[in-house]
Amino acid sequence: MGTETSLYVSKPCLCGQGQLIVNYCTPDHPFAKPSQYTFQLFVECAVCKSEYDLVEQGCNATLIRRADKLNREALRSKHWAKRTEFMEREDVKFYLKLFAGVVLSAGPATFKHRLFQQADMMTMDSVATFRKTLKKFGDEELVRIHASPNSMPSLMKVIGVKNDELLRELAMLNELWKQSQEPCPPVIEPLCTLTQEAYRQSY
Ligand SMILES: [Zn+2]
Repeated sequence: MGTETSLYVSKPCLCGQGQLIVNYCTPDHPFAKPSQYTFQLFVECAVCKSEYDLVEQGCNATLIRRADKLNREALRSKHWAKRTEFMEREDVKFYLKLFAGVVLSAGPATFKHRLFQQADMMTMDSVATFRKTLKKFGDEELVRIHASPNSMPSLMKVIGVKNDELLRELAMLNELWKQSQEPCPPVIEPLCTLTQEAYRQSY
C-alpha cells in the first residue's frame, strides 16, 4: 500500500535556483476514504532550505524563516517547563490536596462532578464517565490528573483561598503560551490553501 502523490503547487524559491513544492497525497489502496489526504510541503533548494521553511499555517502553505520557527519551538519548551514548575509549587500542591479533601467529603458522584466543573476541570465528561474514572483513580489522583494552571483560579474560589502572587504567575505563564502560538510572519504571500476543495479547484 503506497501513496499517490500529485503536484499541487510549484513556485521558484527566493534565490531562483530551486522550487517551493506542495504535493497532494492520498493513500493508494482500495479501502482509502476520500477524506484521507495530506499535503507535503518542502523547499527544494539547498540555499533557501538553510534559511526558510515551508509550513502549514492557518490552512495556508506559508514560507517562514527557520529562525522564527525555532524561536516558537523554544518558547513552547520554555512554557512547558514553566507549566510543570507551576504545578509543582508548594501552594498549588496544597490547594489541590485541599480541594481533593473537599471533594472526598462531598458525597455522591453527581455532587463531586459539579465541584470538578466549578473548578474548571473535565467539564466535558458526563456524570456517568466521571463516576467510572472516579472509581478507577480515586478523588486525589483524579484531581491531580485534571488540574491545570488555568483551573487554579476557579479551584481557589471553590476552596475559598486568595493568592494574588499565584495569579500573577499564571498570567505570565499564559502570556508565554500566547507568544509561543504566534504565527510566524510570512516571508512571501502564502502559496496556496491546504484544503481538498482548493486543490480540486486548481484543476
Ligand atoms: Zn533557493
